Amino acid sequence: MPNAFYRLLLRTAYHTGVTARFLRARRREPSLTVLYYHGVRAPTGDPFDPSQERLVTPEAFQRQLQFVKLHFTVLPLHEAVSLLREDSSCGPLLAVTFDDGDATVLSEGLPLLEAERVPFTAFLPTALTGGKEEPWWARLEEAVRACNQSVTLEVSGRSSTYDLRHPAGKWQLYHDAYNAAMAAPDGRCEHALQPVLAQMAGAAAGPRNGAVRTLVPWEGAKALARSPLGDLGSHTVHHWVLSRLDAKTLRQEVLDSKQEIEERAGVRVFSFSYPYGERASERVRLREYLAEARYHCAITGEQGFNRHTQDPYELRRVSVLGTDTWPLFVAKLTGLDALLRRAG
Ligand SMILES: [Zn+2]
Repeated sequence: MPNAFYRLLLRTAYHTGVTARFLRARRREPSLTVLYYHGVRAPTGDPFDPSQERLVTPEAFQRQLQFVKLHFTVLPLHEAVSLLREDSSCGPLLAVTFDDGDATVLSEGLPLLEAERVPFTAFLPTALTGGKEEPWWARLEEAVRACNQSVTLEVSGRSSTYDLRHPAGKWQLYHDAYNAAMAAPDGRCEHALQPVLAQMAGAAAGPRNGAVRTLVPWEGAKALARSPLGDLGSHTVHHWVLSRLDAKTLRQEVLDSKQEIEERAGVRVFSFSYPYGERASERVRLREYLAEARYHCAITGEQGFNRHTQDPYELRRVSVLGTDTWPLFVAKLTGLDALLRRAG
């Protein structure tokens, strides 16, 4: 999260017209901005709320949609990519995307997208779509939230005591266990997390918190696809760390997910989103499978804008967080935020 000085700097830039100058410059160039969201949800007020950063509030989301409509041509991702490549005189294009298919995309996001008539692309990990099993990050969050006592656990081979009666202890365990999951040698984060959850199981057997998030069911995915504004993309099958998978599994993750979405939702899938972004050196391994499955484009975790020469399998994006202030959101869209960060 940006510090107080940086927030003040951006607020000053916004109110003195510096940000607006950057925006005018951006509007003169053909480019594609891919906005990257996870979901839309009102704040819970819980001091332990890892989703607060991932999910934007309905109020912020609506204001952001109204802003991008005013300053950009907003298209489904694959249409924007095609237009950018074919027409070098096109204005600034923008695509709204969601990774993971969080249930709030349907419940909170879709009504606002429809009210503002803004198209969007939702990327689904097909094995997690359907809500049979919560994604590992939601299970971790819920387990930590439900546990309210001091526990000694072995995480990443180290024994530590976490006082889960206080938010600080919950955050510490959450971060330690999250890192342990992400370090899974076989790329299956849920497998690496399982020993931690098993240790917590006794202590965490309290009532489930009503705010627990799951991903959209297939009926929900179909509802997103049925919207005239909706477009579905693939986010692999299992949301594993792709760089640790063998070639055969990697190919299945890329091809099978597309096929399943197309069969179940009855739509064509053109776009792919790499789970956890994935390093450039690892993305090279996927190219032949992306081409074999006839994806038109793929978005990476690299932050930035796309010019018409951008490799369509190497698209950059702009992450929008629930913790972004309004001046920061606008600074991200104009390039001012990236410029200031590069300048240190
Ligand atoms: Zn994801």
